[in-house]
Amino acid sequence: MTEPIVKFQNIHKSFGDVEVLKGINLDIHPAEKVAVIGPSGSGKTTIIRMLMTLEEPTDGDIIVAGRNLWKMEKKGKTVPANENHLREIRGDIGMVFQHFNLFPHMTILENCMTAPINVKKEPKEEVKKRSIEMLERVGLGDKVDNYPSQLSGGQKQRVAMARALVMRPKIMLFDEVTSALDPELVGEVLNVIRDIAKNDDMAMILVTHEMDFALDIADKVLFLDEGIIAEQGTASEVIEHSENDRLQEFLHRFR
Ligand code: ADP
Repeated sequence: MTEPIVKFQNIHKSFGDVEVLKGINLDIHPAEKVAVIGPSGSGKTTIIRMLMTLEEPTDGDIIVAGRNLWKMEKKGKTVPANENHLREIRGDIGMVFQHFNLFPHMTILENCMTAPINVKKEPKEEVKKRSIEMLERVGLGDKVDNYPSQLSGGQKQRVAMARALVMRPKIMLFDEVTSALDPELVGEVLNVIRDIAKNDDMAMILVTHEMDFALDIADKVLFLDEGIIAEQGTASEVIEHSENDRLQEFLHRFR
């Protein structure tokens, strides 16, 4: 078995007096597609935000591609990570949010090009070529010069995906990317994610309430409940065959 690309080692997270994650242990392997399901408030987004370095665990270690996210070695000692260390790890991680966070004053092509050029300092022509390829891949090759305001919600979400893919991340995070969309736009976005999941070898972590979608694409499903991984296994084991009462109750609300 290859080394995990992401490891959570006994992760605890509290906000004030409230402990929202109570000891999460998790290995995600390269190319693995992991769906995270669970009731509202169970800690799903906190897991994603920790990987994005937006929240620091109260206790435990997160290892990404062999590097400890929050700690680094300096002169033989372990010290808190500095901004350079965090930035390097962030380069391996792409994210698509519930709200698209596109820059309104830039065309969709410019939206895709800005991070590789300005953050990764890559050559403009190469980034442009790759951005166009990715926009074609998400079905927006004819919209490269449009502005976000000229697109539907589903199209904006597809731009957000192309923008993340242009960075060539090793890990892609999707946090309830369809929950802010009108129902008729959900399918087109799920189809693009499905295409990425089936054809790309990056690891993917998806927080989703779309159970049929999770069954279709996930190698592994985690049921998060009250801050612990209450159930995990293949999609079929967790979604179709688990006897966990809390999970059953949760699934009844979504199926
Ligand atoms: P989920 O994504 O499963 O709905 P979250 O990870 O968003 O759950 O939140 C888990 C719990 O942590 C919730 O009770 C939420 O109110 C709380 N929480 C999340 N972020 C913060 C924060 N920045 N400050 C205080 N409480 C927070």
